[in-house]
Amino acid sequence: MSQSSTNVGSESGEKFRRAVIIGGSMAGSLTAAAVAPHFEEVLVLDRDEFPQTPQQRNGVPQGAHFHALLAAGRNAMDELLPEFSTLAVKMGAAELDSTADVMRLDRAGWSPRFSSPLTFIMASRPLLEWVVRDRASAIESVSFRPRHEVAGLLSENGAVTGVRLADGTQLAADLVVDASGRRSVAPGWLDELGYPRPVETLVNAHWGYASTFVRVPQDWDPGFRALACVPYGEGALTTAAERRAMAMWVVEGERRWILTVQGSAGDYPPRKEADLKEFVGSIGVPELDQALSEIEYPERILIWRDTTNRMRDYAGSAERPENFFTIGDAWTAFNPVYGQGMTVAALSARALSHEIAAHLRERPGTLRGLADRFYDRTSELVTFCWNSSTALDYRIPGVEVTVDGRPQDQSESAGSLEFSDRLAVWASLDKDRYVKYRETTQLLRSNDWLRSDDVVDEIKDRWEELGALLTPR
Ligand SMILES: Cc1cc2nc3c(=O)[nH]c(=O)nc-3n(C[C@H](O)[C@H](O)[C@H](O)COP(=O)(O)OP(=O)(O)OC[C@H]3O[C@@H](n4cnc5c(N)ncnc54)[C@H](O)[C@@H]3O)c2cc1C
Repeated sequence: MSQSSTNVGSESGEKFRRAVIIGGSMAGSLTAAAVAPHFEEVLVLDRDEFPQTPQQRNGVPQGAHFHALLAAGRNAMDELLPEFSTLAVKMGAAELDSTADVMRLDRAGWSPRFSSPLTFIMASRPLLEWVVRDRASAIESVSFRPRHEVAGLLSENGAVTGVRLADGTQLAADLVVDASGRRSVAPGWLDELGYPRPVETLVNAHWGYASTFVRVPQDWDPGFRALACVPYGEGALTTAAERRAMAMWVVEGERRWILTVQGSAGDYPPRKEADLKEFVGSIGVPELDQALSEIEYPERILIWRDTTNRMRDYAGSAERPENFFTIGDAWTAFNPVYGQGMTVAALSARALSHEIAAHLRERPGTLRGLADRFYDRTSELVTFCWNSSTALDYRIPGVEVTVDGRPQDQSESAGSLEFSDRLAVWASLDKDRYVKYRETTQLLRSNDWLRSDDVVDEIKDRWEELGALLTPR
């Protein structure tokens, strides 16, 4: 069955007939909100069932692992979906002060602790996603259709005109956006239509995760509401700590926290409780050992190993159909260790909401050119996050880099962290500077100030002094 779709233009409030978004998770829901003002109907198709309450679901298996939402991502979500934060907090998400409530250990040592206005939301991934979908579905023109698996694209005259579902149904649309996540098969769909596949770059530093929800004692006060130990790299306290990391923080639910443990270079955290405790103990941090000795492990430990950074260079493709683009992990999936994916999806969707409005002011009545405009506008952000994620992974022994399946020599790419390590120490020596630094890592502030001559000169002048403050201590 083919449903008709009429392009009725968009001048003076007129709307296009239908947008189809493939995938009803973070990127899909936010994209629906971004384009909704310009369509009579926005259909969000997902092959999975959506739970009635925040729960782990099959379509998003990564949901069992910790998901940090950067402050910039939260702001973008609030802009696209009014009441996002309010509802999340109402449903139990914790709002934490990023310096007072978080105890963080990295190469610069323990982060300074003091009250600051920089807050962020902590919750389980199922809760964050549920709230995003709930807020998007409150938009009148947006409908979510579970159990709708997309199997291909329809096209005519150089433009995508709809989607083909796995059951053979065809659904016409004026705009189709692929938000089907890390395992998107859109390159194959483009291939079927006669378009080139985007160049695919993979950077795999062989990270693995083990996560579980733990039960903490009644009225537990370990001195933090979030604890994170990030990998030290060279000079760590023990050899294992060079490759290992962990985070534990409060999520919704009484006495329920999430514990996620990570290892790189194929040093994957184990699935059994006793082995996991030993793995974490090897990081060599007494404060962490003490905290872990006080908690219980009532739930299963789940593991995850698909942590490859994967970029499909749609933006650089020589030829693409009009009225179709990708967003979120379907475009670029980052090594999750650096916590960027949901935020990049939200910032991209917010950029889309601005770009589609600007596009239709300049070219009323047509969506042709929107995909170019979207990729132009968001490539800088995606590339920035890609570079920061892969730069760290390039330094990990055994990292594998391929471009369209061809192995690449990455030895040239492995930059030194000597400067950035000292920068982190320098930032931590002053409260205002530290807040500014954290705002930069939360993508709220450009990192231009960290590259200014004044800052670079100061780091160089104090090179030995700052170096001496790096761990081990
Ligand atoms: C272990 C792990 C930990 C992570 N931790 C963090 C973190 O701390 N912070 C952070 O910001 N990000 C984190 N991420 C990344 C984050 O999960 C993603 O960036 C984010 O979910 C991207 O959302 P998405 O909507 O693009 O894709 P997804 O959330 O993966 O959703 C894709 C959706 O598409 C649907 N779908 C797939 N194929 C089809 C089809 N053919 N037809 C219809 N529907 C389809 C699926 O059912 C699913 O609902 C982590 C990822 C992993 C793997």
